[in-house]
Amino acid sequence: MDIKEIKKLLKPYGLKLTLPRLKVIEIFLSNDRAVTTGELLRIMEETFDRVTVYQTLKSFEDMGIIHRIVGAANASNFALSSIFKKNPELLFKQHLHFSCIKCQGVFCLDDKSIPTVTLPSIYEVHSLNMVIVGICDRCKK
Ligand SMILES: [Zn+2]
Ligand SMILES: [Zn+2]
Repeated sequence: MDIKEIKKLLKPYGLKLTLPRLKVIEIFLSNDRAVTTGELLRIMEETFDRVTVYQTLKSFEDMGIIHRIVGAANASNFALSSIFKKNPELLFKQHLHFSCIKCQGVFCLDDKSIPTVTLPSIYEVHSLNMVIVGICDRCKK
């Protein structure tokens, strides 16, 4: 995905493509798994201050450009939402995640939707996270 395409995707959100935003999206695009806040900071801190990184993540999360996943190791992981992936029709759809106990990798299972859960009416559901914990393909070898 080149800069032109990224710009086009951000346009509907009313976001200008600033340098930190571009860098963050490039980091996400170059990973096949979710990225932790720590990993992002390590790469970004060479060029940008922490506040900028946190602000960029927050605005992306608020707008649904990225989503947060809490993995087995409890770190906050972020992944790009489907708009940047091969199946844009899956946009905003909640999906299952896989968390590897060996490499701590967290992966989006975009095509696996979360089963419907019926709760007693005393609960008001805002979101539903489902993480499958196990060993990923790379760690099995
Ligand atoms: Zn693994
Ligand atoms: Zn995901």
